[in-house]
Amino acid sequence: MTFKKTYYIHMLSNIKLLVVLMLLSVNLYAQDKKQIIKDIVKEATENSQLEKLAYEITDLIGPRLVGTPQMQKAHDWAVATYKKWGIPAQNEPWGEWRGWERGITHIDLISPRVVSLEGMQLAWSPATKGGAITGGLIIIPDMANSTDFQTWLPQVQGKFVLISMQQLTGRPDDNWKEYATPESYEKMNREMEKAAKEWNERLSKTGYDRQTLPQALEKAGAAGILMSNWSGGFGVNKIFSAYTKEIPTLDISLEDYGMLYRMVEHGDNPQIRVLAESKELGKVRAFNTIAAMKGTEKPEEYVVLSAHFDSWDGGTGATDNATGTIVMMEAMRILKEIYPNPKRTIIAGHWGSEEQGLNGSRAFVEDHPEIVENIQAVFNQDNGTGRVVNLSGQGFLHASQYLGKWLSAVPEDITQHIETNFPGIPGTGGSDYASFVAVGVPAFSLSSLSWAYGTYTWHTNRDTYDKIIFDDVRSNAILTAILTYMASEDPERTSREKTVLPVDPATGEPRAWPSQRPLVREGGLD
Ligand SMILES: [Zn+2]
Repeated sequence: MTFKKTYYIHMLSNIKLLVVLMLLSVNLYAQDKKQIIKDIVKEATENSQLEKLAYEITDLIGPRLVGTPQMQKAHDWAVATYKKWGIPAQNEPWGEWRGWERGITHIDLISPRVVSLEGMQLAWSPATKGGAITGGLIIIPDMANSTDFQTWLPQVQGKFVLISMQQLTGRPDDNWKEYATPESYEKMNREMEKAAKEWNERLSKTGYDRQTLPQALEKAGAAGILMSNWSGGFGVNKIFSAYTKEIPTLDISLEDYGMLYRMVEHGDNPQIRVLAESKELGKVRAFNTIAAMKGTEKPEEYVVLSAHFDSWDGGTGATDNATGTIVMMEAMRILKEIYPNPKRTIIAGHWGSEEQGLNGSRAFVEDHPEIVENIQAVFNQDNGTGRVVNLSGQGFLHASQYLGKWLSAVPEDITQHIETNFPGIPGTGGSDYASFVAVGVPAFSLSSLSWAYGTYTWHTNRDTYDKIIFDDVRSNAILTAILTYMASEDPERTSREKTVLPVDPATGEPRAWPSQRPLVREGGLD
């Protein structure tokens, strides 16, 4: 063999080798990708931390009302949990809120018989002064007008005032539908509608609204406000905030509220004893918890995992939004294990004070223009514990291209439940993705199956650990981890081009893109 020939053969085999290597590397990437996705599913399935995280955030820490010590505890827990996983995290201050801490609420009927009643203070309710208070009850009367109401008002002195209607039934609609005769079902619906309408008229004739009426009663010397904000299901009430400044506002279960109401109406002069403890803590700082895994190739570009961290405090905020929170935490943990050197920087944003108007995420958008400008995608989850069933392109014209590509990497047993809607229309509120959409960032809502969210868990006293559907939450963590991996690896930046929105019939012009709204940096401090 001549030298020349050998050289030629060498060269040929080198070219061959190069081609083989190139093919191999493309193949390796595909292989790699397949393996990474397999490993993500395996880690999520065999080493799930969801139950532990859910226990810690709901049972152990409890609800996360902005301005409460529990909220601060939760932020510190999240930072410590991320650090344990080797993921840097910090609490980022964005504002201040009225500090308050819920204490015990005991409400007992002491006459005409003794019963411990089911009820609780509303958020930010004042305490009873100097221990328990005993008093009679009085119902907002049906007066002709606000002048007559003013004449009646002094009668509330020393009494607990019932300001909600008495529900005609404590059974949910689906229960009626299943068992009632059609005639009886129709009749109940008609009567309920009528009763609600009449009660609203009764309230409006006082000359006050839902916010000013409790304050007028307080001024007139009432001992406390009793209400019952029934959510339409068995045993479930919604718990929001009190408007009183000196006397407690209490929500009573439908069953007990109805009993008290009937006793008053029948002239049996019920007496209750109320002990409501709570603490005013002045002005406290409000935070977002931000965790980040730095990108290796494009550290200045970002994929953002998003879920609000705060909650109302009637239950423990399990499905609103501990489930969204642990989906994002678990996805971060899995990615750190399987994909520790992401191409782009991956951020988890655990926002404060979503419930009072997306305040934490709006602050983040305002405070970090350098990040916002370079976000590849935001994935937000916040409508309960169910598996993701809907994904809208939020009005981004080319969302179907990149979301479609990323989704195609997700196992079919997860994607088969997901209906996509491209390009969709931009969300104006409802959860934190809207804070990003408003400034043109491709931000998407991983929208869940309801599991009777609106009736049973959303802002209710029954939003607790036992309502979590862990199989669905696990599926959501896998989905989020894979979408994040794909968004991080994508060789291309996502397009922010917006679709032309449908015509507004009122103006004949296409609807405008939602605009960035101001946030509250100082809340509850009036
Ligand atoms: Zn929520």
